[in-house]
Amino acid sequence: MTGDWPLSAPCSGRDGFTPSEDDWSTGADLKRLCRPQLDTCGPCPFRAACIATVKPAQAKFDGIAGGRLWCNGEVIDALDDVFEDELAEPKLRASCGTEAGARDHKRHGERVCPSCRQATREVSARRREEKAKQPKQLQLDFATT
Ligand code: SF4
Ligand SMILES: [Zn+2]
Repeated sequence: MTGDWPLSAPCSGRDGFTPSEDDWSTGADLKRLCRPQLDTCGPCPFRAACIATVKPAQAKFDGIAGGRLWCNGEVIDALDDVFEDELAEPKLRASCGTEAGARDHKRHGERVCPSCRQATREVSARRREEKAKQPKQLQLDFATT
């Protein structure tokens, strides 16, 4: 891929991808302004390169990059078909291996590391199990009263 890929991107020459700070104050404003442009990223073959160039998390970026809408460097909206491997490599942190670690990765606009992914899967499975038990417990409670 050559360095002039932005000229071939679907957004080339189009406005509204990085609204002026004078035009919005909340994430909801940003969504209202940018959502129509987000669809432009749908067929773009440069999403990963776009994110690697803009570095939205580090730059505290506000606007559209790589099929996602970022506000202060965090993803607040995304196309349905984005791929996690379009994001930056995850940094390992003290929180890794926990659900909070997965949230930290997302906050930094990067992929979720394998141990955080596993922790999230386990927490979700536990929650599902607990939820599945609840109605039975209630039924038993009713039966014994
Ligand atoms: S991903 Fe979106 S913002 Fe980035 S180059 Fe492609 S069309 Fe433009
Ligand atoms: Zn992690």
